[in-house]
Amino acid sequence: RGTGRLYNFAAGPATLPPEVLAKARESLGDWQGLGYSLLETPFSSDEFISLMETTRNQIKSALALPDDYQVLLLQGGASAQFSLVPLNLLPATATAGYVETGHWSTRAFEEGRRYARARLVASSRTSQFDRIPPVDHWALSDDLQYCHITSNETANGVQFHADPSCGDIPLVADMTSDFLSRPVDIRRYGLIYAGTQKNLGPTGLVIVIIRDDLLDRARPETPTVFNYQRQLERQNRVNTPLMFAVYLVHLMLDWLTEQGGLTSIHARNIAQSRALYRVIDEDDFFQCRVLPGHRSMMNVCFGLARPQLQQRFVSEAADRGLLNLTGHSHAGGLRASLYNAQPDAAVAALAAFMTDFRQRYG
Ligand code: PLP
Repeated sequence: RGTGRLYNFAAGPATLPPEVLAKARESLGDWQGLGYSLLETPFSSDEFISLMETTRNQIKSALALPDDYQVLLLQGGASAQFSLVPLNLLPATATAGYVETGHWSTRAFEEGRRYARARLVASSRTSQFDRIPPVDHWALSDDLQYCHITSNETANGVQFHADPSCGDIPLVADMTSDFLSRPVDIRRYGLIYAGTQKNLGPTGLVIVIIRDDLLDRARPETPTVFNYQRQLERQNRVNTPLMFAVYLVHLMLDWLTEQGGLTSIHARNIAQSRALYRVIDEDDFFQCRVLPGHRSMMNVCFGLARPQLQQRFVSEAADRGLLNLTGHSHAGGLRASLYNAQPDAAVAALAAFMTDFRQRYG
């Protein structure tokens, strides 16, 4: 692959800032002067309890969470929340609404319907998930205990660019692939969950943000380690937390602050994704099926008018150090993921490669 810089466009686990990785490595030596590493530190130690508290507070301050929103750092990744949200929020006979916009919202709906009466209130399936259905067309009704959306469809490259309002129905959002990529109107949401392997680093950890009025509704059979109320009462230490993962998230939140916070990172994400969509839209050589205005800033999904060139594109890109550009196995095509830590130089290198590839094969 040559000796040049490598850029990783994977959809998650995703590229991380080198300075964060260096600090994470340091924690494997003598952590906080304790004489052993973070990996060997008791989770009931003052040092770790303080790290958990700091990390939760960093999330609260990054999103400017009002006092009636709580933050949990749980295990099981985002997929576990597909079942844990209904278990924690509603009885089996109650109804929840789901907006279907691509692969991940379909997964959430299919899992949700195992635990409750789940109903699709809107779907863009008939147009092959090329858009977010407008909120005034959603079939919302008073019997819905919550309405679930996937704010960014990682596999399909479709994203909500504004926070929808469901009136009095609590909005539940899977924000796994665009969490902390932009400021959000938090009051619109009753619950947000996000796996951290995109914008915040580690796999297996999921952040749950929940409004107080939705707490203490869990069904009795909800596993205690996944019961939001029980975990809050025990300061998130019902079981041994994902300590190293929490530390990595803490470092990424420090890094986010150094970048200027959500407003700055949002501007960078807009600029990076525009640079790629501009190259794609220049003519018909590259194609993006998602309608302008609905396209993801995080996962730029595209294809080639001549799909037989795709393998060549991926392998020539890899030769230039541009890695992991193959699309999701369900959606096909190509995908460049531009999470918060993606450097501008990576996007410039990819845009230049795409232009060159078109000149040679167009
Ligand atoms: N939701 C979205 C939007 C995702 O992109 C992913 C993974 O890519 C998941 C859920 C599943 O996350 P996990 O693998 O942490 O369960």
